[in-house]
Amino acid sequence: MTPVGRVYLVGAGPGDPGLITVRGRDCLRRAEVVVYDYLANPRLLDEAPPAAERIYVGKTRGLHHRPQEEINRLLAERAKQGKTVVRLKGGDPYVFGRGGEEALYLREQGIAFEVVPGVTAGFAAAAYAGIPLTHRDYTTSLGLLTGHENPEKKMSSLDWEKLATGVGTLVFYMGMANLELIARELVRHGRAPETPVAIVRWATTPRQRTLCGTLADIVAKVEAARFKPPAVIIVGEVVALRAHLAWFEQRPLFGRRLLSTRSAEQAGVFQELLEAQGAEVVSVPTIATLAPLDWQGVDEGIAALARTDYLILTSANAVRFFLERLRARGRDLRALAGVKIVAVGPKTAAALAAQGLTADLVPENYQAEGVVKLLGGLGVTGKRVFYPHAELARDLIPRELRALGAEVQDPVLYRTVLPERGGEELRRLLEDRRLDGVIFTASSTVENFVRMLGEDAASLLSGVAVASIGPPTTATARKLGLRVDIEPSASTLEDLAAALGDYFRDKPLRFAQD
Ligand code: SAH
Repeated sequence: MTPVGRVYLVGAGPGDPGLITVRGRDCLRRAEVVVYDYLANPRLLDEAPPAAERIYVGKTRGLHHRPQEEINRLLAERAKQGKTVVRLKGGDPYVFGRGGEEALYLREQGIAFEVVPGVTAGFAAAAYAGIPLTHRDYTTSLGLLTGHENPEKKMSSLDWEKLATGVGTLVFYMGMANLELIARELVRHGRAPETPVAIVRWATTPRQRTLCGTLADIVAKVEAARFKPPAVIIVGEVVALRAHLAWFEQRPLFGRRLLSTRSAEQAGVFQELLEAQGAEVVSVPTIATLAPLDWQGVDEGIAALARTDYLILTSANAVRFFLERLRARGRDLRALAGVKIVAVGPKTAAALAAQGLTADLVPENYQAEGVVKLLGGLGVTGKRVFYPHAELARDLIPRELRALGAEVQDPVLYRTVLPERGGEELRRLLEDRRLDGVIFTASSTVENFVRMLGEDAASLLSGVAVASIGPPTTATARKLGLRVDIEPSASTLEDLAAALGDYFRDKPLRFAQD
């Protein structure tokens, strides 16, 4: 007996990957085949198992969609092979998405299917542009319409007479090519020319842009701004509420494209911080971390933990490499029982906490100087200090602590090296002028950035804001001929993200049209 497959018609939501439903994501996680198109956020594909077959059926630049019949056949064929198929569709599958046609075909073929609704573009665009689609004081009815030019029908299927005055809020999908006709017909059939209109493109993504006008002037405004699809057109008095309710586009980093230079392991957390403020983050790691060439010093330190007073760790990487090595040596957390652990800052402390360890001491300013001051204050004469560190770390901690009478072991715990790839990509991003800012969160990221780009690093950065997490990183940047525009007063990722927000808040957006 051949196994029976099933097709899930899943709404991917409007663009923001967070706007897929929980059930939709569950379907993706179980998918063996994912058939997706242009408007579904490709990031959602990461939810599907790595082995799942991914088939793109959307239109590519200049080319047309795959014929619907072909998509129908593809879905049926994979399901008949016994596969769990997810047909991932932008927005909601049953709103102008031809999901109805796909479902009818599957029914005809006797193939089981389920439908998972999605947040449709019109609802999402309204929410993210600050437009309540209904409001008791303005309107009590809402229409979703297609403004698509169908050469055979010429939009004759819309009853303008009734729409113009019979429905409060009108939301047009696929209407940009027919905007002039839409505005003209609505006014001709009795809608006031001063009725407000908002056009929202790439809603819910970092590329969202909103253009407002009235039925009388919106066409001219769209031409002047060269505003392009995909966009929804919202017509109605409720559009006026946007003046009070816009929020998405007002987040401090909204519309900024920022480059993160952190290592692949460390990019994630920071990226989330920036995205929460509205930024689009491009990550090109300038750092990869590797084990030391020789573990001897670290292993000696591990063997001597029972006699150690302080263990100093100055990065989440240090926590990771140290604990991995500890375990590789057949030891576990109990080896640290009598040792006071010093973490340089909250991120290192959090990395320890994630492993079940509490940092005993964290300095106030989250820097090497702070560690020295803290331990100096406690008195370290005759104390044993173990400080396994990154290869090129400054020698401030061991030097100062020894001067204070401590016995310090400071072997190399990990090395940061130049990643093999990324130079080309960096150059292309900067040459294409597609970045608003570049962010350095360690001296080594600056050094490698300059090595990856070579001599013209500084000139490639002209017009791009440069952000540094703190004084040592800034000093390295300046030494290498780079200008630094943004530096937070405290050296944490949160403060850096906030400083970026303050810097960009009132600057005009650069990339409105791509
Ligand atoms: N099934 C989809 C609609 C598909 S029709 C849904 O429910 O949203 C394609 C049209 O949807 C586009 O022409 C555009 O009008 C609209 N659209 C889809 N995603 C959009 C987005 N992120 N921002 C603005 N409009 C979008």
